[in-house]
Amino acid sequence: MLSHSSAGKTSLAEAMLFDAGAINRLGSVTDGTTTSDFDPSEIKRQISINLSLLPCQWKDCKLNLLDTPGYPDFVAEVREGLAVSEAAVIVVCAVSMVEVGTEQVWKYTTEAKLPRLIFVNKMDRDNANFFNTLKDIQSKLGARCLPLQLPIGSQKDFQGVVDLVTRKAYTGNPLKETEAPASLKNDIDSYREKLVEAVVEVDDELITKYLEGEEISEEQIHRCIKEATRLGKLVPVLLGSALKNVAITPLMDSIHDYLPSPAERGKVTATNASKGTEEDVEPVPGAPISAFVFKTTNAPRVGKYSYFRVYSGTLSSNSQVWNVNKSTTERIGQLFVLRGKTQDPTPQLSAGDIGAVAKLASTATCDTLGSKEHPLKFAPIEFPPPLLSMAVHPKARGDLDKMSTVLPKICEEDFTLKVQREADIGEILLWGMGETHLDVAAEKIATKFGVEVTLQRPKVPYKETINTKTEAEYKHKKQTGGHGQYGHVVLELEPLPRGTGFEFTEKVVGGAVPRNYIPAVEKGVNEGRMEGILAGYPVVDVRVTLVDGSSHPVDSSDMAFKIAAAQALKKGLTEAQPVLLEPIVNMTITVPDTLTGDIISDLNTKRGRVLGMNPGNGVNEIQAQAPLAEVQRYAMDIRSMTQGRGTFTIEFSHYEEVPAQIAQKIVAQKSSQ
Ligand code: GDP
Repeated sequence: MLSHSSAGKTSLAEAMLFDAGAINRLGSVTDGTTTSDFDPSEIKRQISINLSLLPCQWKDCKLNLLDTPGYPDFVAEVREGLAVSEAAVIVVCAVSMVEVGTEQVWKYTTEAKLPRLIFVNKMDRDNANFFNTLKDIQSKLGARCLPLQLPIGSQKDFQGVVDLVTRKAYTGNPLKETEAPASLKNDIDSYREKLVEAVVEVDDELITKYLEGEEISEEQIHRCIKEATRLGKLVPVLLGSALKNVAITPLMDSIHDYLPSPAERGKVTATNASKGTEEDVEPVPGAPISAFVFKTTNAPRVGKYSYFRVYSGTLSSNSQVWNVNKSTTERIGQLFVLRGKTQDPTPQLSAGDIGAVAKLASTATCDTLGSKEHPLKFAPIEFPPPLLSMAVHPKARGDLDKMSTVLPKICEEDFTLKVQREADIGEILLWGMGETHLDVAAEKIATKFGVEVTLQRPKVPYKETINTKTEAEYKHKKQTGGHGQYGHVVLELEPLPRGTGFEFTEKVVGGAVPRNYIPAVEKGVNEGRMEGILAGYPVVDVRVTLVDGSSHPVDSSDMAFKIAAAQALKKGLTEAQPVLLEPIVNMTITVPDTLTGDIISDLNTKRGRVLGMNPGNGVNEIQAQAPLAEVQRYAMDIRSMTQGRGTFTIEFSHYEEVPAQIAQKIVAQKSSQ
């Protein structure tokens, strides 16, 4: 189940579970009592954050419903759900109609080649309009989206639906069969005609019959709807109200009747890890086992849970399987079927089913569990790269170690979170898809693992360098009674090409600086270069050569030479036209054509450079470079500029000199700290 945020998936799942008898009380999103959204972060924000498994029995079928978050920050959960689904139900709100998030999930399901149906929800709400919503759907998502039902009433008068195939009407809660209103007769005829005309296309014999004016039976229409849906030639549109639980059972019937079961889906392939060849996976309980782990959760008391879908064979509790990716044996304890937060132990799970198991030793998301003799491996889920980084600090100083052990655990749960240690600026960065994503991650760290953390805008890892060659001399000489201190060095400093790093060499002749003191000189230079003279940033792209100096037979020491070297370096850096360097990132920005102008003028204000453009299919791909300092929060900027239609990737490219005026500000700011 996918949609733009707030279209009503969680409420719909709740109504479906209730109608199926899987729960005996209908929870609500506003009260925080739904089966799907039980996590405190979800209840607080009234949005889904996690992918929820919501199995129920409908007629002779087990439906494994997966409720996905609609908020774009939680795309990882959507990708995980899509990877193991046979089909998609896309929920559209009858008031706000097709939104950016709807187009996004439409794109995902197209890429995943999933058969899908659309449910127009909130028919009871003020301003709900089915026919306008249908028009919007057809113009934005395609003409093959055709209704299987028409509404009876709308907004506060919404009562139910007419089934276009059977012409029967269903109203009320619980739903009862009634006569279709006479006023709808013409609409029923014309929409039914359009539907039949579209679906008979999948059957050559039926087309001929249809064109010759023969009546097509209900049974034949059902069959054609199923086939057309499977082939993606039809996307059935249904409608109802999740909140009022009206017309939900016809949706479940349609899922049951028209969307494919794992056995009907057709070929699924995997790689045989020992032969390196592609193989068809047999979706039957007796075949060799293959199960794909699509999600992992971590919590301190309960430990790790691995969620998996069985593609072939049967997985049993208290057994052993082969982790094909890690080439290790995994001990399987008790298997569970999860429904929201409830866990039902189960002895086994067979091909097509979804479940979870606790405490696997080495298994991670995207691993395949199988048999050693027949090691099948599924392709990993593709996750988008993270877009926004924040520096994460423990609130209590003593929690740093604990935080460091927790961070990998939350990344194990969510492959769109990444941890990056920035040694130069002494920060740990947490990368994610957006602000909400990182806020929720911080909440998880606190509520699940008991470490309170704060998130801050990361420091920009500036560096310093020089623009000209120079020689610098420093003599460290102290006579403080008894033993004195004596170290004397002459250093040559020269700029190196960008990206070379820092080098130290020596060209001392005639033992001016005795060999045994040269390591101390190198140490002094290396320590000194960690704090540049402009704003205290590390110095790079410089070669320092020890060319001369002198020593004293009694007073010279490692310490004296170290101090002399660090001071000479400082002097040299000051004289060699020091400049500040800033990181430049490469960006690939994809936006609708119409927004290209806005994006480019915004990039100009951010000191960005457009390197190229690649137009196609209504969208424009812009290649650009920009200073990191200007685009650290681009995830939020692009979302607001494009209402979420734009996407981008960002990666470090190289360092460049900071323009003088800006450099002055950075230096001034640093010295005022
Ligand atoms: P999700 O983000 O897609 O899971 O949407 P939710 O199920 O959380 O619903 C978002 C809001 O819309 C909540 O306040 C629901 O109570 C409300 N809502 C959901 N379905 C309906 C409906 O059929 N009618 C009305 N009037 N409100 C609904």
